[in-house]
Amino acid sequence: MSTSAKTFDIAVIGAGIAGASVAAALAEHTDILLLDMESHAGYHSTGRSAAMYIPSYGPAPIQAFTRASGAFFNNPPTEFGESPLLKARSELLIAREDQLSELNAFYNACSNHDHVQTLNAQQVQLHCPFIKSNYAAAGVIDNSGSDIDVHNLHNGFLKQFRGRGGTEIMNATVQTLRHRDNIWSLHTSAGVFKSKIVINAAGAWADQIAKLAGAESIGLIPKRRTALTIAAPANIPHFTKIPLVADISEAFYIKPDANNLLISPANEDPMPPCDVQPEEMDIALCIDQIEHAFDIKVTNIISKWAGLRSFVADKAPVTGYSNMAPHFYWLAGQGGYGIQSSPALARYAAAGVLGQSTPTDITEHCLNTADVSIDRFN
Ligand SMILES: Cc1cc2nc3c(=O)[nH]c(=O)nc-3n(C[C@H](O)[C@H](O)[C@H](O)COP(=O)(O)OP(=O)(O)OC[C@H]3O[C@@H](n4cnc5c(N)ncnc54)[C@H](O)[C@@H]3O)c2cc1C
Repeated sequence: MSTSAKTFDIAVIGAGIAGASVAAALAEHTDILLLDMESHAGYHSTGRSAAMYIPSYGPAPIQAFTRASGAFFNNPPTEFGESPLLKARSELLIAREDQLSELNAFYNACSNHDHVQTLNAQQVQLHCPFIKSNYAAAGVIDNSGSDIDVHNLHNGFLKQFRGRGGTEIMNATVQTLRHRDNIWSLHTSAGVFKSKIVINAAGAWADQIAKLAGAESIGLIPKRRTALTIAAPANIPHFTKIPLVADISEAFYIKPDANNLLISPANEDPMPPCDVQPEEMDIALCIDQIEHAFDIKVTNIISKWAGLRSFVADKAPVTGYSNMAPHFYWLAGQGGYGIQSSPALARYAAAGVLGQSTPTDITEHCLNTADVSIDRFN
């Protein structure tokens, strides 16, 4: 039967990390279609991240999903390649004299002090020798962080999805959604497809997709974040082992990116969903902040990009069946943490779609399911 004539069990809109991971989990049990408007999966936020796994980052539900993803990251299935998905990279939060109370509050709020340690100015300098000697008054280092191989992670989910018999269609912009006789018709630029259930994993476009389906709005706000790579400072011993260094107020961060340095103004500029590009103002601000805090003179930008981190008001993800549109499941609002939380969030959502109870290894990480439910938008 042709793809457009058959009725799928589930259609997933969006083949970024959210759509790919939940589609892979569900393909084991169901006949599933994965649609994306771009010619290749991962073109938007998923391909534009800083690729960090930091279990202490983000709101409580994100921290729970991130911790619950650790076992997967450390022992992934064969589709995810031979090389490790995580490579250790500590996170060093730094504070000027006027930010010390914020740094102390962060340290005291850490639920687990096994991996975190406070540092004085000299110790901060030892971890990152190119911070200006009079800049940071203190720091907190978190040794539970890692770099994520995002390409292998995302590709692994797509390979798993295909291996389990899933159907993937790119260049298929969903334009209209109609529900009749218990079946969704998805009218796309690549034809009309039919499915019993629709999963909304459209990233920054999730509220637009919901509108097409007659579902509730979650007040999702896509926020632009810009990043650049520049040449690494010269003669830094063990440069690639330098931690990610972030301002405690999240005003900027830097991290080694192969032999270059990734720098970001950590901006959160609200904007409509789009193929977002870096703005000259973001770049100028970023260079100014980095040159102020570090012994670095930016003479050449090697690459620059921007991506959207999409948040609802409480910054936690949104999951669950819509209370307005039938058989329409939400998987949105992963904000700045959608890669690190994806393995566990996908299993959580897959269980929700199938009406199964939450896997116990996820609840063991202190997840309060009401905090990620669509019901909080009633
Ligand atoms: C600069 C930056 C740094 C970041 N750093 C990190 C980090 O270190 N760690 C971390 O965990 N996270 C990080 N993030 C956040 C992370 O990238 C996102 O949370 C994650 O990628 C969101 O995935 P997604 O699948 O929801 O969205 P996307 O990857 O944007 O996927 C959504 C997909 O939906 C498709 N789509 C939309 N509308 C339609 C339609 N009408 N029809 C068909 N398809 C449609 C789009 O084409 C897109 O492919 C960062 C983000 C940015 C921008």
